[in-house]
Amino acid sequence: MRGNSLRIALPIASLLIAFLASNSNAAKSSRSSGGDGSGTTVVIDAGHGGYDRGGIPGQRVSEKDMTLDVARRLKSVLAASDYRVVMTRDSDVFVPLGTRTAIANSYRNAIFVSVHFNSATRRGASGIETYFYSRESLPLASAIHHYVAGGAPSENRGVRRRGYFVLRRTNMPAVLVECGFLTNPTEAAYAQNASYRQKLAEGIAAGVRSRNSVASSFSTTRVATAETIPMQPYIDQTRVTSSKKSRSKRSAKKSTRRKKKKTSSKPAEMEACVASSDREG
Ligand SMILES: [Zn+2]
Repeated sequence: MRGNSLRIALPIASLLIAFLASNSNAAKSSRSSGGDGSGTTVVIDAGHGGYDRGGIPGQRVSEKDMTLDVARRLKSVLAASDYRVVMTRDSDVFVPLGTRTAIANSYRNAIFVSVHFNSATRRGASGIETYFYSRESLPLASAIHHYVAGGAPSENRGVRRRGYFVLRRTNMPAVLVECGFLTNPTEAAYAQNASYRQKLAEGIAAGVRSRNSVASSFSTTRVATAETIPMQPYIDQTRVTSSKKSRSKRSAKKSTRRKKKKTSSKPAEMEACVASSDREG
């Protein structure tokens, strides 16, 4: 048993050491007293970073800067409530998606919140949407969405289920929140306002705090919202393609993995941000 857990622990440890060596600012945790965190670790994932600006080519407002700023504000708000906070990145560096999920999965009693902003080629596309994948993530998604979308003047695009990498590969309640469209002039102006970003962070934190206590009242309506969206488009596209070939589940999974490797030069998340945009029409 000991050998087994060592075998699992070592790759994670070496991964983390390598990661920490490459970026001394990342994966820092902080803790303070006097709040309601009660031992929960919140892994905050600022989308994109480094050469990956996020969004679409030619986009004026850089997504990676906005996500990092909101993530840092969220960290401060949660740390003040006695949550243990871990950042997958705390500076302008590129962190592979696999490293982000490995960091998250190395903590027990954790929840994962990925912060993004949306983009679309159509300037009119607007609104806030929140994604989850596993069932256990829905209360957290509903609570976060309730406070973020409820506190913003933007359109409410709802809680949606989709198999984004960071949602599928994290073994804890995991949510990805798209805090508005940076390609929409109005929402881009909001995002560039520090007090608005603070409000976004406080909305996410309010959702984190209330995910258990009032989750049932959100999920009564929000489950319905999520269920009314056709599930097929929100499941990983490569997985859907594989199952069409009527192979066994195991070989289908293998081919998914192979496909993932082939396309791994482009971060899945980057495509996700674009793919999730401008879909209402
Ligand atoms: Zn993004």
